[in-house]
Amino acid sequence: MISAATRVAGVIGDPVRHSLSPRLHNAAYRALGLDWVYVAFEVADGDAAAALDAVRAFGLVGLSVTMPHKTAVAERCDELTPAAAALRSVNTVTPLDDGRLAGDSTDGAGFLRSLADAGVDSSGVTALVLGAGGAARAVALALGGTGGRVSLSARRAPAAEAAAALAGATAVAWDDRADAAHAAGLVVNATPIGMGGDDALPLPVDAVGADHVVADLVYEPRTTPWLTAARSRGARTVGGLGMLVHQAALQVERWSDRPAPIDAMRAAVEV
Ligand code: NAP
Repeated sequence: MISAATRVAGVIGDPVRHSLSPRLHNAAYRALGLDWVYVAFEVADGDAAAALDAVRAFGLVGLSVTMPHKTAVAERCDELTPAAAALRSVNTVTPLDDGRLAGDSTDGAGFLRSLADAGVDSSGVTALVLGAGGAARAVALALGGTGGRVSLSARRAPAAEAAAALAGATAVAWDDRADAAHAAGLVVNATPIGMGGDDALPLPVDAVGADHVVADLVYEPRTTPWLTAARSRGARTVGGLGMLVHQAALQVERWSDRPAPIDAMRAAVEV
């Protein structure tokens, strides 16, 4: 029951009405017995500073940040974690006791946790990340942080080079990505290819085989054509839903100081 004591958390973005974050967070708060509620705020591009003022004025528990605000919020937080500073991107704002706002990026750590959940040891892995957007950069940085050797390939070479430099990875030409996949143990699709009925593959399927772990950050559909194709080659596959759950779980832990109820969160979005 929402009362005058109920605390509010939320996500800002545009578009944001499709977001699964309210389902994930509210399931977590229920399971933890917290008198908190999490809502989606549609905030227009350019209004991130006003949204951060609202975090302070309304005493929000925390704020998740999605497109197009991740960079603007990173520029306006009072302190950043090393990942958020390196990526110049924030998906998690935590109000501190002294009124300052701390920014974090939980996507990379969430990805590593999703691999661990699937029984994949990512430490020191040789990885190929496809894509040069925010998700690719976060995943490449996190994999590099485990001591892995990370290559990154994207269809626009300058974007690949910039993303690789930011994440401490090596840029690979898009036309050479199949060779790089052969040489890797882990191949990650961080492009939207395969999303929502698209049956294209990010790479020729014979580039992977039984020695590969193949991860797809796309979670709609839960099993993408790329994961189906990789499985048919004997590869071990990891879908994008785990990362989605774990990046939110890290937010819950940051804001509540308690372990996140992963099973309840996963159940809320598995349907
Ligand atoms: P983004 O910033 O828009 O970057 C997308 C990247 O994919 C860019 O490098 C883009 O290249 C490339 N790309 C797009 N269409 C392509 C195509 N047809 N062929 C080759 N490359 C293509 O997006 P993002 O935020 O990084 O997200 C990427 C994907 O990861 C999305 O599907 C998103 O839903 C998913 N994601 C999942 C999670 C999770 O928790 N599971 C979290 C974040 C993101 P150009 O710049 O040339 O267009």
